[in-house]
Amino acid sequence: MDSLFSLNGKVALVTGASRGLGQGISVGLAKAGAEVIGVGTRTLQDTKQKVEEVGGTFHELISDLSEKGAAEKLAGEAIAIRGRIDVLVNNAGIIRRSDAKDFSNEDWFEVIDVNQHAVFQLCREVGTHMLENKSGKIINIASMLSYQGGLKVPAYTASKHAVAGLTKSFANEWGSKGVNVNAIAPGYMATDNTAPIRENEERNAYITSRIPQGRWGTPDDLQGAAIFLASDASDYVNGHILNVDGGWMSS
Ligand code: NAP
Repeated sequence: MDSLFSLNGKVALVTGASRGLGQGISVGLAKAGAEVIGVGTRTLQDTKQKVEEVGGTFHELISDLSEKGAAEKLAGEAIAIRGRIDVLVNNAGIIRRSDAKDFSNEDWFEVIDVNQHAVFQLCREVGTHMLENKSGKIINIASMLSYQGGLKVPAYTASKHAVAGLTKSFANEWGSKGVNVNAIAPGYMATDNTAPIRENEERNAYITSRIPQGRWGTPDDLQGAAIFLASDASDYVNGHILNVDGGWMSS
């Protein structure tokens, strides 16, 4: 049974691994046996330490995925570390909040560049490498706003709808070639990304009351879903968006 979920000998590339959900996913994949290459815009020492505490191996790559050409360069550097990537987790993401009428072009492009363009480019670049190996698992991090509109976050919502579409598009093309492409849609998770919402007492209380499990999620809550979608256990799962939301979408 263990071998179905084992990631022993696998190399996983996780973007946005410095903190929050990417850090939790990195530790989870390491627990299951994967060697992790983590990406952030600055040092990832905290994640390295947490991965090593569970007996894992961690490599750090610094990359600003908002920059032109960054995804292509990152893919090359990551593949060069161990000569292969078995699992890609497109997790890096940002959010900008403002009334739609005041939402600037600058914020729009910043969010779309990181959350959408970089996800497409990394799927294409690392996916091409996986196609050569006839094997690979891609996990894109979607959102409840891959389904819903959200409030005052038009670029974020557009980008997360795009992540859902990209996941299905790549899955259709690569499913028969040994590469599975799926997504995890986290619900409301306690990280830096959602700090402003949790600081708003009224909004926090409303959101918490709508979550059937009665609490916000944590980065650790994503580990099981990530291990499943990265492992042989999900070999016949493709183009799926797995909600990890404490029941939010059912309420
Ligand atoms: P977070 O705590 O703000 O962490 C964001 C991560 O993305 C950091 O590691 C950050 O690296 C990295 N990142 C940001 N801009 C980058 C760039 N230009 N280049 C490379 N890396 C960059 O956010 P989070 O809550 O963990 O979110 C992770 C993912 O889950 C995002 O895609 C987010 O949209 C999604 N999500 C979150 C929630 C939630 O409730 N928190 C719900 C649904 C989906 P640095 O530390 O170097 O800046």
